[in-house]
Amino acid sequence: MLHAQDILTCLNHYWGYPDLRPAQKPVIAEVMQGNNALVIMPTGGGKSMCYQLPAVLRSGLTLVISPLIALMKDQVDDLRLKGIDAAYLNSSQSTEESNRIFNAIGDGKMKLLYIAPERLMSLKGALLERLKTIKIDMIAVDEAHCISSWGHDFRPAYTKLKDLSTHFPDTPVLALTATADHATKQDIIRQLGLENAALFENSFDRPEIHYTAKPRIDEVAQLLEFIAHHPSESGIVYCLSRKRTQEMADRLQEAGYKAECYHAGLSSQERMERQEQFIRDEINIMVATIAFGMGIDKNNVRYVVHMNLPKNIEGYYQETGRAGRDGLDSKALLLHGGGDFRTLSTHCEVDGNLDQSNVMLGKLRRMQDFADSRVCRRKILLQYFGEELKEDCGNCDNCETTFEQHDGTEDAQKLLSTVARLEWSYGLAHIVDILRGSQAQKITAAQQALSTHGIGADKSKQHWMSIGKELIQQGWLNQSVGKFPVVELNGRSWKVLRGQAQVMLTAFKETKPIKKSGKRAQTPDFEAGSDNQMRFEALRSVRTQLAKTSNVPAYLVLSDRSLKELCTELPQTLADLESVNGFGKVKIEKFGQAFLDALHQTNV
Ligand code: ADP
Ligand code: ZN
Repeated sequence: MLHAQDILTCLNHYWGYPDLRPAQKPVIAEVMQGNNALVIMPTGGGKSMCYQLPAVLRSGLTLVISPLIALMKDQVDDLRLKGIDAAYLNSSQSTEESNRIFNAIGDGKMKLLYIAPERLMSLKGALLERLKTIKIDMIAVDEAHCISSWGHDFRPAYTKLKDLSTHFPDTPVLALTATADHATKQDIIRQLGLENAALFENSFDRPEIHYTAKPRIDEVAQLLEFIAHHPSESGIVYCLSRKRTQEMADRLQEAGYKAECYHAGLSSQERMERQEQFIRDEINIMVATIAFGMGIDKNNVRYVVHMNLPKNIEGYYQETGRAGRDGLDSKALLLHGGGDFRTLSTHCEVDGNLDQSNVMLGKLRRMQDFADSRVCRRKILLQYFGEELKEDCGNCDNCETTFEQHDGTEDAQKLLSTVARLEWSYGLAHIVDILRGSQAQKITAAQQALSTHGIGADKSKQHWMSIGKELIQQGWLNQSVGKFPVVELNGRSWKVLRGQAQVMLTAFKETKPIKKSGKRAQTPDFEAGSDNQMRFEALRSVRTQLAKTSNVPAYLVLSDRSLKELCTELPQTLADLESVNGFGKVKIEKFGQAFLDALHQTNV
């Protein structure tokens, strides 16, 4: 029987962490008893530890089923750097290579073997038979939601895992996912036969992520303005189409950023290279379709931008969750509007499956409501995952904005009377252009001669657009559906125009952030030019060097958080490093002296 102390000793020795996270403890205890379990934990919550640590503590082999080769490679590199024997099997390997891996397993030192479901359950079954002759302590099914067609990320190969219990009747199964959707959860339980398994559901809160959602008005300008606050940091920008990713990456490059696009249209070679460059911090901004990110464990992604409405909250949450895995403050920005909802609703149709189409459409509506809402965003997100947040979070745009009601009747009259004067129906943007006195060609001579042409020149386009949208939302103006929506007056519009109704609008007034202290201990931001920042830069270049020589991504050598701790704790000896987060025994041996030397040099 293992004691808690042995677990901590192992954690400290290999990972250099002082303790398990509260959510990890009960899972690991359950798994160590040889029981089945289902773990639902948000991205960044530390799921891998739930099977990696037990795997190290046990004598046999742990099989890890994972959907993506890139993710396997990353995890295996990470484990090896820590001095843990691990390998992965995939279809790109030669017979010799897989034989070598099997020999290593035969030696009994291998702790973890990563494998894709199609490979494990392949029809020929040779691999299965071979594995059945080995002592397998546990099977971990990572990204278990891929098994369910009700989830947002269905992978048919995962459904073959239904037969796992036939092939390995006595081996405990640990299923892990970040999707908490009820139908998906039930599906995982049913398909993997986990009816009697312990269920561990965790808070989905990611207090380190700051959420903002805004109407998309001038996307390039909005994106550039946002990124200007994070010039040399790592970020992901999601676009809907391949073409857009290319265009946006070009604009960012023109503005001097190290940006590249990433989408399924690139060759797999190009994709792999770009992903590697991103991981190595040679590309700072990856402008991608959703094809990018699932295989990425990079822990210092500081922001995630969505240039369009995502299809559902699960996807949005998973994508934004790629920021801040190191627990440091990070941002999620969502720009939405235009025809997002309509475009996406056509994607919601699942051929020949009306029920599932409706599920998808319902999920899209919830996403739109989230974007439009003025309530604390974290409250909405957590509520979606079945959690209640008692107080507003203080770390989202809505919490930081005071929505003041004011009498907007005059502005409403200006806008509505412009609509009234036009012979045909136009889109809102066109109305706003007239109000602001645009002389563009699309504004006809007759429109330029209107008495309302230019009466709104004192306000920005963005301001008028938001007034227009609010009039629509409040029902003072109609907007058609269809590909090119136009605005039209209704009965209530005429009441405003005749002075019979008052329109209250909510103006935004940006106020100073009222951020409350985050729940997790925050690592300090160093000021530019400070001693700490100088040390940090010096350590960062040491890390880059070490990463190059070890041929692994920089963040696997040491996280930003650990670097910062080195700067503030100023350890003197290798033994001092033991108390620095992220320094296990092997890492101290391999890299410790190099970091100490660099620290020493910056101090003289
Ligand atoms: P998930 O798979 O749930 O998205 P990961 O397993 O990738 O999350 O873990 C996210 C980050 O948290 C990783 O950088 C990992 O090293 C770190 N982490 C996990 N467990 C602990 C712990 N007990 N103490 C400190 N950091 C941890
Ligand atoms: Zn909030």
